[in-house]
Amino acid sequence: MSEKAVMMDTVSQQAEKPAASAVQPLRKKYSVYENVTRQFNKAANLMRLDANIRKILANTMNEIVVHFPVKMDDGRLEIFTGYRVQHNNAQGPFKGGLRYHPNVDIDEVRALATWMTWKSAITQIPFGGAKGGIQIDPTQYSRSELEHITRRFTFALGDTIGPEYDIPAPDVNTNAQIMAWILDTYLSLRPPTSRQNECHVVTGKPVEAGGCAGRDKATGQGVVYIIEEWARDHRFELNGATFIVQGFGNVGSWTAQLLQEHGSRLVAVEDVTGVIYNPKGMDAKHLAGYVRHKGGVTGYKLAEAIDHPTFLSTPADIFVPAALENQITADTAPLLNVKLVAEGANGPTDPEGDEILQVRGIDVIPDILCNAGGVVVSYFEWLQNKRSEIWELAEVDQKLHKKVTEAYRRVRDTAKDHQTDWRTAAYIVALSRLERVYKERGIFP
Ligand code: NAD
Repeated sequence: MSEKAVMMDTVSQQAEKPAASAVQPLRKKYSVYENVTRQFNKAANLMRLDANIRKILANTMNEIVVHFPVKMDDGRLEIFTGYRVQHNNAQGPFKGGLRYHPNVDIDEVRALATWMTWKSAITQIPFGGAKGGIQIDPTQYSRSELEHITRRFTFALGDTIGPEYDIPAPDVNTNAQIMAWILDTYLSLRPPTSRQNECHVVTGKPVEAGGCAGRDKATGQGVVYIIEEWARDHRFELNGATFIVQGFGNVGSWTAQLLQEHGSRLVAVEDVTGVIYNPKGMDAKHLAGYVRHKGGVTGYKLAEAIDHPTFLSTPADIFVPAALENQITADTAPLLNVKLVAEGANGPTDPEGDEILQVRGIDVIPDILCNAGGVVVSYFEWLQNKRSEIWELAEVDQKLHKKVTEAYRRVRDTAKDHQTDWRTAAYIVALSRLERVYKERGIFP
């Protein structure tokens, strides 16, 4: 096309645009990994991160994509695509969950892997960051098909995972059962003499298969320990406070049950099936039982159904997003009617959403601090497996409490020192630690 033709085309497109577009700036939708990059750059600029270390941390180390065949119940063969991205292992083995969801792609997994590196650094546990998953809608498969998909994925990953190298855990739509299948497959492929020493290849296993007491509730428990600290700092009374939760799976349902123990009231819940609301409060434990049975919150008799925008604008003290990324954006942040956003999910707020919450005076406890309880207890599970120990729940909770409250204070104090928001402060805590690790070890060769 000639230059003139290009110009003509541009002009004619401009002429066709409705007048409203002149006053309403176009909002570019950023990918999840672009969000990570923007968060990273903001912190790296503010703390003047060493330029060479910045180059290393701005990239993932390894990206594994596998396509593998699985025979379905009816004899058909389907090909699945699985991912494992290993962002960094300067602090210890790669560590991070596996997600089964139709949105799983290389961009999302890169972002989730990178956040894992920061979480391990903030909580000072000897792990790096990784994440993986399969691009599927697990509701479309039978239990036996999911087992075969999981086992074949584990086989396809081969030695790219390992107990001292890269250790998966549960994430969205994966659970202790899936971890047990990964464990069994991985061990079946090892020489018999090393099978007993390698069950720390995954965490989040069932307790009977080497799992840790309290791993199931760990992420929610960590979220609640962090909210307790925030409440103490702000002289805020949790007893009688109200909260809303998006996502009522592992993280959302445990956070709700544990927050309720402080006398806080769950007034609205959204999940993939719909939204429910009851201003008098709902019993989170009873609702969790209902969701386990019915597969979602829709139809819960002790609440009324509301729509998504009404959910977001529900007046409450605390909002716990515990579902997926990019939920609090330039479009939705203005709707929120809360004092605190405690990010149980990874990446629920994008940078535009963050700016709006800041201007509106809504506190945000960022994901890489708020939901780090999961990886901390995964670390405890890994340690117990290596040492052939079994810790009591009280010991796990007490150690988790210490780890996450120390991390909370590091982030809070850094935010004060740098006069910045908590997300940027959390990044500064993580990046400073990684900078020290690289400076001490040097770069090979
Ligand atoms: P899960 O599969 O147990 O639950 C996910 C929940 O999100 C479900 O209730 C589902 O209905 C809901 N959901 C899905 N799509 C939705 C949508 N479009 N709108 C509203 N709700 C929707 O997953 P999980 O393990 O609880 O993970 C939730 C979040 O927490 C994810 O961001 C995950 O990465 C993060 N996280 C999980 C852990 C962990 O230990 N499981 C640890 C740290 C962070």
